[in-house]
Amino acid sequence: MASAREILVPEAVGRLAPSPTGYLHLGHARSFLIAWWHARSRGGRIVLRLEDLDVERVKPGMLDAAIDDLRWLGLDWDGEPWLQSRGVDAISGAANDLLHRGLAYPCTCTRKEIQAAMSAPQGDPTDSIYPGTCRGRYSSIAAAEQAAGRPAALRFAVPDRLIRIDDGIQGVHKFDARAAIGDFPILRRLGMPAYQLAVVVDDGRQGVNEIVRGADLLESCARQWLLQEALGIEHPRWWHLPLVTDASGRRLAKRSDDLSLAQLRRDRADPRQIVAWVARSVGIDANKPVDARALIAQFDISRLPRSEVRVTAADMNGFRAP
Ligand code: GLU
Ligand code: ZN
Repeated sequence: MASAREILVPEAVGRLAPSPTGYLHLGHARSFLIAWWHARSRGGRIVLRLEDLDVERVKPGMLDAAIDDLRWLGLDWDGEPWLQSRGVDAISGAANDLLHRGLAYPCTCTRKEIQAAMSAPQGDPTDSIYPGTCRGRYSSIAAAEQAAGRPAALRFAVPDRLIRIDDGIQGVHKFDARAAIGDFPILRRLGMPAYQLAVVVDDGRQGVNEIVRGADLLESCARQWLLQEALGIEHPRWWHLPLVTDASGRRLAKRSDDLSLAQLRRDRADPRQIVAWVARSVGIDANKPVDARALIAQFDISRLPRSEVRVTAADMNGFRAP
């Protein structure tokens, strides 16, 4: 019989959202295992979304490699994998909706113009806040393109407000939206949806209400929060995981193929050793190779350490040990 709690609390829906623009590495393995354990340990669902929008950066074979990596780690998901590129219409539709409601505007600035406007003498050259040059300038995309003689992008008009995000790992983060974020693209030139909008629309339509991912996306969180607010999509709960670094403390990047899961698979590494390594890093006592599934019941996200995780040479040898 279902208890009152089960009736009142919505089912947890988590997601695995790899971008097939490079091989997945041990940092991804850790994020995905944790996201999967977090959903499964509470009877939740988990969906897979392949974020293949950036067609120029998606390389052949990467889609299959991502799925093979996840299966190799022992993960599964509910329903068919969702290919982001297949649902572009709904994402563009959301962008147009924002445009028609006056919450977005066409922008014809070139990269050079934006850089020039931003590099005021006192300005911090690293800050990439768009100064709002095109806000209120054009009545439509067509008018913008005609006036400028080049394709227009669409920017979200960031409202002047304070945002408070209570992250399950990073704690409370407050953002002064206008000052900290600035108007950001939701459609790039020629109508291709930008990452922030695509994630929000797809999480909304896949019913995702829990997001576990790397801390490199914490800054994106405020933008996604604003878009959810504007589109009437309920905010999910977020957990941003401290990043995995190599032995020298450098962040793992998709470029460093040495730590890629595809390479480890080719080297006949034991995925259950990788699972055990991730498990130890989240406070589970796992000194032997183990299946991801076998640890579901022991996982508790509140026990996760807040510090970065290093992959040492000894760890790497352990993965490859017979
Ligand atoms: N696909 C993105 C990535 O691999 C993650 C998107 C997200 O988690 O929101 O970096
Ligand atoms: Zn502009």
